[in-house]
Amino acid sequence: MAHLLIVEDDELLRDGLSAQLVHAGHTVSSACDGAQAQALLDSTRFDGVVLDLGLPIMDGIAVLQWIRQRLLALPVLILTARDGVDDRVQGLNAGADDYLTKPFNMAELVARLQAMLRRSRLPAFGGSLEVPTNHSRSLRLDPLQPLGWLGDDPLDLTHREWSLLSLMVNNMGQVVSREDVFAVWQTAPQDGSTVGSNALEVYVHRLRRKLTDSGLSIRNVRGLGYMLESNAA
Ligand code: CA
Repeated sequence: MAHLLIVEDDELLRDGLSAQLVHAGHTVSSACDGAQAQALLDSTRFDGVVLDLGLPIMDGIAVLQWIRQRLLALPVLILTARDGVDDRVQGLNAGADDYLTKPFNMAELVARLQAMLRRSRLPAFGGSLEVPTNHSRSLRLDPLQPLGWLGDDPLDLTHREWSLLSLMVNNMGQVVSREDVFAVWQTAPQDGSTVGSNALEVYVHRLRRKLTDSGLSIRNVRGLGYMLESNAA
């Protein structure tokens, strides 16, 4: 079944949720604040997250934004207070896939989560990012970890190359600005070094080499950024 992360500061609720989800057949990890959640998300691959918005120190919206900058397709269900209409809107705008209002029914939570996980496995929802090319070897990227394939051949991608390529695949045919790339990279788990602006050109150059014969090319749009295009005749 799925490996889920529960981020909730209310211990009673956290344990209750965890027990229910384990009972439903899932593997469950839990965190009581944003920092713990970040540490777990950095080290473990999860299939979905239940995220309380009312967290101490780093609030749930900040955690959600952090998740979205690096794990584009990780399904996230948020828990909000009953009168928190603004929270819900803000949460959905920040990339939550679904929400439940407290107090909620456990059975409903389990059902909503199952539905969310099912949807997330559909290709259009990011089971993997796939770009068909005219070379019959389509480019596929894992939405959650730095893995990619051209046809059946694995692409050797660093985390930064993968996040750059994912950003371009998500914006296929549109310009991705240098600022967009740096916004994504800022929080990418990395070698810890800061990225100079020349480095972007180096990464693009490396990706171009890795995409040789893929039927895809990365165009330099002068003064604006880069665009991934299909070379289809
Ligand atoms: Ca709370």
